[in-house]
Amino acid sequence: MDMVLRAEDRAFRDEVRSFLAANVSPAMRRVSDLTTGFIVDPEVSIHFHRALARKGWSVPNWPVEYGGTGWTPVQRYIFEIECARAGAAIYNGAGTQFVGPVIMRFGTPEQKDKYLPRIRSGEDHWAQGYSEPGSGSDLASLKTKAESHGDNYVVNGQKIWTTLAHKSNRIFTLVRTSSEGKRQEGITFLLIDLDLSGITIRPIIGSGGDHEFNEVFFDNVRVPKSGRVGEENKGWEVAKYLLEFERGGNVMAGRVRAQFAKLARMVAVRCPDDSEITTRLAELGTDIDAMEMIDLSVLSAHQAGSNPGPISSLLKLRWSEIRQAVNELAVDAAGEAALRRVDERPLYEALQLPPDEEDNLALIPRYLNGRAFTIMGGTTEIQTNILAKSLLGL
Ligand SMILES: Cc1cc2nc3c(=O)[nH]c(=O)nc-3n(C[C@H](O)[C@H](O)[C@H](O)COP(=O)(O)OP(=O)(O)OC[C@H]3O[C@@H](n4cnc5c(N)ncnc54)[C@H](O)[C@@H]3O)c2cc1C
Repeated sequence: MDMVLRAEDRAFRDEVRSFLAANVSPAMRRVSDLTTGFIVDPEVSIHFHRALARKGWSVPNWPVEYGGTGWTPVQRYIFEIECARAGAAIYNGAGTQFVGPVIMRFGTPEQKDKYLPRIRSGEDHWAQGYSEPGSGSDLASLKTKAESHGDNYVVNGQKIWTTLAHKSNRIFTLVRTSSEGKRQEGITFLLIDLDLSGITIRPIIGSGGDHEFNEVFFDNVRVPKSGRVGEENKGWEVAKYLLEFERGGNVMAGRVRAQFAKLARMVAVRCPDDSEITTRLAELGTDIDAMEMIDLSVLSAHQAGSNPGPISSLLKLRWSEIRQAVNELAVDAAGEAALRRVDERPLYEALQLPPDEEDNLALIPRYLNGRAFTIMGGTTEIQTNILAKSLLGL
């Protein structure tokens, strides 16, 4: 494959670079570097999102009619790679990348008018209410119940692992509206405002010490039926459509490459002659190149607005394993110094890193949190099952 950029793409890249130079502040870059969880605090990333919205670039994955950019896949790819390289933080992927495309595909005109502009501008922050205690991989077993009462559903039950629910004002949920027949045929997709009476959000602290997850409890919550996406009991189709975007709706190589570049710099300073470490580094570099090809084919397969399809599971499988391997090698390369506490300044002196490499202080929390990459968005085993069925026909 010829990876040389054409002149017009190089010009586009220059435009993106100058936009990023003007809008990614050193403070945001530092927060991105030091964030050990999965998502940079939305109170930080909102500023960049607003700058993107002013430029008309906040939803490049959306069709032009809904405010997308109309970029070619190559332009989209350049944009994502450059954002990652610049340390630009993504704001609310659950809104722009997951529920936005779902509302475009299944939503009513009123839902499109109400929600899409607010996602584009960053006014709304969405959380994902799929998982429940006992219903993760086996999602169709979910029990949160919605009973019909006139123009409302009355919702009772519990969601879990709800990323950033405490920083969100809306949540998209799967609820059970029928217990008849096949389990998948009694599920409805419901948009819920998180300030409704009867909703309680409780924190779950992750193994890296971060507060990103929550439990969300629904106690007789009256949700207007105008928030239902698709027909009652037909939410499973909507739910699966969303998952394709969750697993393959974004370019992953940029972020993995940015992390790899930091690792390579650390190895060059700390243990350039350790052949076991340098061999693993070289293997990882090759794995990332191969993953980038999957990234590109996913991107070409889903032009703005259409769904990525089952290849999204292959991408999810590879990026999650590779990011874990990068974190693991970083800890191994740092040696026992990685075990020091994050807030101990001597750690980075012990690592002999230049001051701008201070982010390596976050090695252990990042390694621990990274164990979740192969669980979130569907575990490795679940992705492998999907691939076996859809691509190999097993
Ligand atoms: C970082 C992170 C963020 C998350 N954010 C959200 C969120 O915002 N909203 C939300 O709704 N959920 C979220 N989740 C939850 C996530 O979707 C679930 O953790 C995931 O689907 C797995 O479900 P489980 O944890 O119940 O594990 P289980 O389903 O109980 O799985 C346990 C083990 O059994 C294996 N297993 C299960 N079924 C099979 C099978 N059929 N074949 C082979 N092996 C199988 C699994 O692979 C796994 O190893 C998040 C999770 C993480 C880690």
